[in-house]
Amino acid sequence: MAKDKKFVKEITSMEEDFAQWYTDVVKKAELIDYTSVKGCMVIKPAGYAIWENIQHELDRRFKETGVENVYLPMFIPESLLQKEKDHVEGFAPEVAWVTHGGMEPLQERLCVRPTSETLFCDLYSKEIHSHRDLPKVYNQWCSVVRWEKTTRPFLRSREFLWQEGHTAHATAEEAEERTIQMLNIYADFCEEVLAIPVIKGQKTEKEKFAGAEATYTIESLMHDGKALQSGTSHNFGDGFAKAFGIQYTDKENKLQYVHQTSWGMTTRMIGALIMVHGDNSGLVLPPRIAPVQAVIIPIQQRKEGVLETAQRLEAQLKEAGIRVKTDETDKSPGFKFAEQEMRGIPVRIECGPKDIEANQAVVVRRDTREKVTVSLDELAQKVGEILETMQGEMLERARAHRDAHTYVATDYESFKETINEKPGFVKAMWCGCRECEDKVKEDVQATARCMPFEQENLSDKCVVCGKPAKKMVYWGRAY
Ligand SMILES: [Zn+2]
Repeated sequence: MAKDKKFVKEITSMEEDFAQWYTDVVKKAELIDYTSVKGCMVIKPAGYAIWENIQHELDRRFKETGVENVYLPMFIPESLLQKEKDHVEGFAPEVAWVTHGGMEPLQERLCVRPTSETLFCDLYSKEIHSHRDLPKVYNQWCSVVRWEKTTRPFLRSREFLWQEGHTAHATAEEAEERTIQMLNIYADFCEEVLAIPVIKGQKTEKEKFAGAEATYTIESLMHDGKALQSGTSHNFGDGFAKAFGIQYTDKENKLQYVHQTSWGMTTRMIGALIMVHGDNSGLVLPPRIAPVQAVIIPIQQRKEGVLETAQRLEAQLKEAGIRVKTDETDKSPGFKFAEQEMRGIPVRIECGPKDIEANQAVVVRRDTREKVTVSLDELAQKVGEILETMQGEMLERARAHRDAHTYVATDYESFKETINEKPGFVKAMWCGCRECEDKVKEDVQATARCMPFEQENLSDKCVVCGKPAKKMVYWGRAY
């Protein structure tokens, strides 16, 4: 037992030090490893399998709306990056450059893509000529590089994996429609698959993407009360089209600029899963995203019939579409339980000689640790039901946590006090001025997370300056 305890003991409790708890979980659940390049991580099998499930679920949803996947180079010539002024200014501070090919200095240095708007624009300027070439709805799965100063696994790394969708449309209306459509796909995916409730809204001018006309976002709240931007969708209007000369002839044979969008979701979402659902025993994965949904742990597995029964049950569960594994290693059951909890496998099935004699198994939920005894004849069906219930309850629990940590402030003193003392979202009215956002940032290190689509009228005055309010804003400290 001493060994079992040690395995779990090595995680710092989240109440004591949330940041250290997070680091412990990513390491002990074997999601990542550090490398010799600061800020770049190895994503290990347990972590990469989560990413593959994210990819699979998103890609299916994208393709249902007509998205086509492509792959573009990872290098962008400096002259191309500089074509759109706001865009280059936004990204310049964190761009990595390639200056040599072999021993030869390059004529023009190449940046390692921090995002690929400019490459897609270059491609579209060649591919689009007529209204018949529209719309273009491309996406790529790739990695991007942003030379961040402070890094944390999944949340902020110098190289990360993502998808970036880039579209071109004939009209402004169509581009806006696509921008919102993709935001809704992200929101549904987060809630239905990751069990993470989100607030949908628009970014302020200060917080929007470099070069965008409008940026829409989904914001979620982590267990420690900090916000996480979980997916963004940008409407570029015709700004990039004008900078890159992307024009088409319309039905009246007149030359028009296209209207563009881009949208992305990243490996950050693995960080979100950890910070929304995890506990002091480790990771807790929602069943729909979990690479392994159930693990069978044979008790006294050397006794006759135990392993055979475990294998028979595994086959039955697989047949029922459940992602299941049997832990046949020679570790003690206690150690296996601790490992299953650390890795966040949604349910474990314990089955030993006495259970087999009674034709039953014990099923334990990872999130609530609720134990039920189930007849072996209906194990697959019951486990399926437990996984569904767990998925729904995890979303509701995360929503209740978010709602309990969402506050309202109508004057600046209580606004600052709430931000400082109660981690979470603060809803407050805003006049629309950049100065007020800057003041909030300076006074309490919080930012405008979004102007939610579901607006409320909390008061007539801006919480910072007292001038007439234009929008209700969710404020918070963010990752
Ligand atoms: Zn104001």
